Amino acid sequence: MSKSMTWGKHLPCEYRSSMNSPLIVALDSPTLAEALQLADRLQPRQCRLKVGKELFTATGPAVVEALQARGFEVFLDLKFHDIPNTVAAACRVAASLGVWMVDVHVAGGAAMLAAARRAVDSASKPPLLVGITVLTSLAETDLAAIGLAGPVDQAVVRLAHLAQSCALDGVVCSAAEAPVLRSALPAGFALVTPGIRPTGSAEDDQVRIVTPAQAMAQGSTYLVVGRPITQAADPAAAAQTLLDSLVPS
Ligand code: C5P
Repeated sequence: MSKSMTWGKHLPCEYRSSMNSPLIVALDSPTLAEALQLADRLQPRQCRLKVGKELFTATGPAVVEALQARGFEVFLDLKFHDIPNTVAAACRVAASLGVWMVDVHVAGGAAMLAAARRAVDSASKPPLLVGITVLTSLAETDLAAIGLAGPVDQAVVRLAHLAQSCALDGVVCSAAEAPVLRSALPAGFALVTPGIRPTGSAEDDQVRIVTPAQAMAQGSTYLVVGRPITQAADPAAAAQTLLDSLVPS
C-alpha cells in the first residue's frame, strides 16, 4: 500500500480526516473548469480548499457548490470590508452557501465585526469567522501612510485583540507573527497562516516563508498553501508529503 493511502495511521488522530487536517490549499485558478480539475487531483480527507476573489468573481457560488459536492470544505476568502450592514448581509449569504470559513478585515472596526459575528451565527451551520489583521504586503511605511503609526507587529497584535474581543474565531496572519499572537491570545483562537513553503520548494513571490512544521510549532492552527501543491506534478502526493512532514520523527 502506498504511503499516501496509509498516512492516517502515523499521524496524530487529530489529522486523520479533513475535518481536522491543518492544511488549506489555495485554489487560485481563474476558471471553474481549472479549479475543478485541480480539486479532482486532491483528496477531501487531506485538506480544505480556499476560494479567493479571482475564482469567486469568475464563477460565483457555482465553484463553492461544486467543491462541496466533491466533499471538500471551503474557506471563502473574500475579505469583506464595508459598513456593518453590508458586511453582515454578505456574511449571511456566504454562510447560507454552507462554507466552512469566511473572512473580514478587522480594520472595518468593532461594529462591523460584531455585525459579521451576528450574521454568521444566524446561519443553520455557522462557518468559522476569521479576521485579516495587516496584509503582509504592507510595510511600516505603508501603515504610516494610512495613519497607522508604529511597527507592523504592534498593529497586528492590536487588531487581533480587537478581533478576539468581537468574538471572531481567529485571524489570518503571517506565520512569522504567529508566536507573538499565540502568546497574546487564548489557545482556541485560530491562526490561519499563508507564506508556507515545504523544504526545497520554490519561494515564488513569498518573502518571509516558513516550513509547515515550523509554522505549526510557532502556533499556527491552519496552513494556507498554494503553488507548492497546486503546481506540483501530483498535487495529492505533494499534500501528503506536507502532512507527513508534520509528524514528529
Ligand atoms: O501559492 P502560495 O502558497 O503563495 O499561495 C498563498 C495563498 O495565500 C494565496 O491565495 C495568497 O493570496 C494567500 N495569502 C498570502 N499572504 C497573505 C494573505 C493571503 O499569500 N498575507
